[in-house]
Amino acid sequence: MSEKVEEKTTTDDTLKSTLSLIKQSVEELEMSNDVYEYLRVPNRFVEAAVPVEMDDGSINVFTSYRSQHNNVLGPFKGGIRFHPDSTADEVKALSMWMTLKCSLVGTPFGGGKGAVVCDPRKMSIREKERVSRGYVRAMGSVLGPETDIPAPDVYTDAQVMAWMADEYATMMREPNFGVVTGKPIAVGGCVGREEATSRGCVYIAKEAARTLDIPIKGARVAVQGAGNVGGFAALLMEEEGCKIVGISDSRGGIYDPAGLSIKDVMAHKKSTGSLEGISGVKEITNQELLALDCDILIPAAMENQITGKNAADVKARIVVEGANGPTTPEGDQILKENDILVVPDVMANSGGVTVSYFEWVQNNYGFSWDFATVDKHLREKMVEAFNNVYGFYCERCIGSDMRTGAYMYAIKKLAEAMQYRGWLRNGIYT
Ligand code: GLU
Repeated sequence: MSEKVEEKTTTDDTLKSTLSLIKQSVEELEMSNDVYEYLRVPNRFVEAAVPVEMDDGSINVFTSYRSQHNNVLGPFKGGIRFHPDSTADEVKALSMWMTLKCSLVGTPFGGGKGAVVCDPRKMSIREKERVSRGYVRAMGSVLGPETDIPAPDVYTDAQVMAWMADEYATMMREPNFGVVTGKPIAVGGCVGREEATSRGCVYIAKEAARTLDIPIKGARVAVQGAGNVGGFAALLMEEEGCKIVGISDSRGGIYDPAGLSIKDVMAHKKSTGSLEGISGVKEITNQELLALDCDILIPAAMENQITGKNAADVKARIVVEGANGPTTPEGDQILKENDILVVPDVMANSGGVTVSYFEWVQNNYGFSWDFATVDKHLREKMVEAFNNVYGFYCERCIGSDMRTGAYMYAIKKLAEAMQYRGWLRNGIYT
């Protein structure tokens, strides 16, 4: 199963709005524009052709990207997506989010992101393998366990990571599997990595609810997305005693104000491939799901879902962004006006890269942790990161939102590192 969503709809504005929020954060922190200059463009952006022989003997030359945004905190880190709509600007914006994510959660990594512009849904498994290996052959010289460490993202998974690790080992003549994370356990993967994004999201949702005095037991939750992130987050929230009133996939959703049995729903989805045909529930659209009467809304599927057009319909008190970029800037503005706490993606879905970090640490010292250890460290990191960011937001961002607070908190840490590394000759502040 792929790391994240079933579809994506990133707009060309994603890079622009990311840059404008970074600039605004630097200004609000009263920092030198030099900090913004370092964050404005990726350190390195590589575009490479990936020639692949298809099963019918034809050759397809796919375009691929790797954006290495900023490595002031450590090696570049971030997923690789296989998607027909990926663009250079999208990959750049996503790599910037990784820089912020790693900074605020406290993993010693910089931000990176990659993509192959292809449609894996139309490929055979062997074709997908050739694309994965081709990507590493094209990009291998800029990757490395101490340089840039890819991971799964949209439509890539543990198997893709294993092929990439194998190709890298062949190229470099050394099987150092720490070059990618999110691998299968048999080749140096970490237990709990596959559900780490959901687990992290749930720890964050619990902290956010506690902060707003919403008892988690009995809290009404709606989840957009029934894939690896959304489906598992719903299951875990149910285990926490929440009432999951709605869940959806790319085709639509289901609603039951009395609470769904997520175990049964996921079993149905597994056997039929869809959420349709479950008795005793109301079938709803994705738009209706976002507008459900609930306490916590977890958009964990597509990007650009909560927009200027529908944000006013959101009734949840907390939005926890399991997906990358589910809320547009216009949507954000309306949620803020309606006093809805939005825990931003860079915070809410950072569980994935956090357990990637644990995987890399284990690969580096040649030892593997058990699940209890992984989970304990993940919980601690998530709770600490949430409280750091929330505290900073309350102190410094009155009248603003938690996304701005998270950006500012992350940029503050990045700027401190830049200063110590001698990148800011004129100091951090203006
Ligand atoms: N693709 C995931 C993300 O967007 C995980 C990245 C990683 O583990 O490096 O956070």
